[in-house]
Amino acid sequence: MPSSLRIAIVGGGIGGLTAALAFRARGLDVAVFEQAEVLREIGAGVSIQPNAARLLRRVGLEDQLQKIGSPIGGIVLRTSQAFSRGDQGYNVHRADFLNLLFDALPRGTVTLGHRCIQLKEEADRVRLSFANGASAEADLVIGADGIRSAVQREIGLQSRPSSEGIMAYRGLIPADRLSWAGDLKDPALWLGSGRSFLLYPVARGRLINMVAFVPSDTDSEESWSAPGDLKALAAEYAGWDKPVQDTINSLDETFRWGIYDRAPLPYWSTRRITLMGDAAHPMVPHVGQGAGQSIEDGFTLAVLLEGCSAYDVADRLKVYEALRRERTGNVQALARAAGKLYRSELDDPSEKAVRLREWVAQGKWVFEHDAEKAAADALVDLGC
Ligand SMILES: Cc1cc2nc3c(=O)[nH]c(=O)nc-3n(C[C@H](O)[C@H](O)[C@H](O)COP(=O)(O)OP(=O)(O)OC[C@H]3O[C@@H](n4cnc5c(N)ncnc54)[C@H](O)[C@@H]3O)c2cc1C
Repeated sequence: MPSSLRIAIVGGGIGGLTAALAFRARGLDVAVFEQAEVLREIGAGVSIQPNAARLLRRVGLEDQLQKIGSPIGGIVLRTSQAFSRGDQGYNVHRADFLNLLFDALPRGTVTLGHRCIQLKEEADRVRLSFANGASAEADLVIGADGIRSAVQREIGLQSRPSSEGIMAYRGLIPADRLSWAGDLKDPALWLGSGRSFLLYPVARGRLINMVAFVPSDTDSEESWSAPGDLKALAAEYAGWDKPVQDTINSLDETFRWGIYDRAPLPYWSTRRITLMGDAAHPMVPHVGQGAGQSIEDGFTLAVLLEGCSAYDVADRLKVYEALRRERTGNVQALARAAGKLYRSELDDPSEKAVRLREWVAQGKWVFEHDAEKAAADALVDLGC
């Protein structure tokens, strides 16, 4: 039986939909409001690393993840040495993953075409207003509405982007265009001076996802879908390893993605409204944890809110914020440090590989974390 607590999630992206699944699994009553009229995702891969995959497994998504995902073993550097991350994760096509999450939710949980424009927090409820004139009420509102979050603005916050001075070219290539793609089981990363080039299989190896980081002295658009110039991309990697050149030559199109960082927000919550995912802690993509951290947020909230009355919400949000601000702050810092290493101007790229190996070994805490256990332990500490 769903609990009497009414929860509204603004934003039906990876974070919002996985939170809804985690809530449903614990009997919580949840409604998701997504601005898009139809569920659409751009053609790109996303990593669901072990810290997130283990949570999805617990709500019964293992079989579906296996169907759409390419297992992540370790990362293959130019030294061909593999680094294990312990548990299993998956690289997936974003559209496949979003459809999987949407289909796993009971019909009616997600309401499309609802762009939240205003929240009014009252003593015993929050009123939500949407651009289409509709309105709704909830005991608790969770902003899972991404880097340009309206919920963030409604609770008096505004995070400002600052460019990292780099951009990424992204693209997807049908694997059958690359003679060596069948051997590419794990992510492969090429490191050069000031640049890096990442490939990994998605969609069970049918597609290869490319992310190529290059310096940028112009402020590239903070967009996931701005068209890029294939000739400019090829010029950036002139003289690089053959698979790098093959990949670029096989692309039909590429997209430019300006990489931006944001300072941590001073707070995430009021008494009845909180933030999660990119709305709370956007991070640079260098450890592939944007999706993973949003998934951890949702499962953490589910543990903390299970069996909780409307009266307890404010206290549970304090626990959520304390747990998640520390963890996501540490992951954000790691991602920043990894970015610095990737774009450093070292004369000997193998030195980067050695440092990256040290970094992966030190970064085990990212992949081994169990967000549900951390939340349950926090409740025990509180005497709940
Ligand atoms: C191209 C791309 C590649 C990425 N690659 C990786 C990767 O390899 N690994 C990784 O870990 N992370 C990656 N990320 C980042 C990762 O996807 C996000 O960090 C993660 O999905 C968390 O997102 P979110 O759900 O918080 O926000 P989003 O995914 O941005 O979802 C926000 C949702 O809210 C909706 N919305 C926005 N405003 C409103 C409103 N006012 N009312 C209602 N709905 C609203 C949006 O339409 C959207 O559906 C990538 C992101 C992109 C775009």
